[in-house]
Amino acid sequence: MNTNPAATSAPAHRAPVCYDASGECVGCGGSFGQPCERHCPYRTGRFDTATVLRLAGARLDNHRNTGIGFDVWGALYAAARALFGPSEARHQSTDAQHLLAAHLATRCGVSLEPSVAMAVHRYALLADTEEMTSALYGAALPPGQASDIRVGHRITIHGGQGARGARDELLTRTFAIEVTYARAVFGRAAGRVDVCGIVLTNSGGFRKDCPSRGASIGGEAGGEWSALRSAPAELAGQP
Ligand SMILES: [Zn+2]
Repeated sequence: MNTNPAATSAPAHRAPVCYDASGECVGCGGSFGQPCERHCPYRTGRFDTATVLRLAGARLDNHRNTGIGFDVWGALYAAARALFGPSEARHQSTDAQHLLAAHLATRCGVSLEPSVAMAVHRYALLADTEEMTSALYGAALPPGQASDIRVGHRITIHGGQGARGARDELLTRTFAIEVTYARAVFGRAAGRVDVCGIVLTNSGGFRKDCPSRGASIGGEAGGEWSALRSAPAELAGQP
């Protein structure tokens, strides 16, 4: 007889695995084409608010307003409904909206007046796809893991402290970028941030052909980065 309840009781609600634009499962961060990790909510059937937020981020395009911004409440509700079913959708999407609001207040300086719902709605109206997606993914991270790096920041990635690609190949040369993409990694490599940006010259300008470079920094990779915004001279003398 099988005494493992996880193996015998079917989850209350089955949802098909959703992969985001990076080809990662919104539940566990596993890659498209690979089996999900054992703890993945899509395998256990026990979903959480973090998965609601990431699923809403992955399906954001379905909730684009005609005219301006996103219907983020609609995205959260649809995600909660897909994962938890209609009876729990409202309650679960309200929880997700509160996490998103807390993230926006602490990381993006958004005022929560006159109400959480209104603050989130207002932010979503003015956000572009990258901002809205990174807010939803950032809100899904456990406290203390969210990164301070934002699109538009100028950062230096120091030699030996950034990694690249699936094999964590170390980046040996120091370089500076203006960030055009920043996303916190969840799942296996939680705490890391994938960034990409336009390479800057020593004086903080763009090169003629505007080459871009990416790196994975922070978390267990032990990467370090430093803000360049206020001190472009920091790069002077670097290769
Ligand atoms: Zn998964």
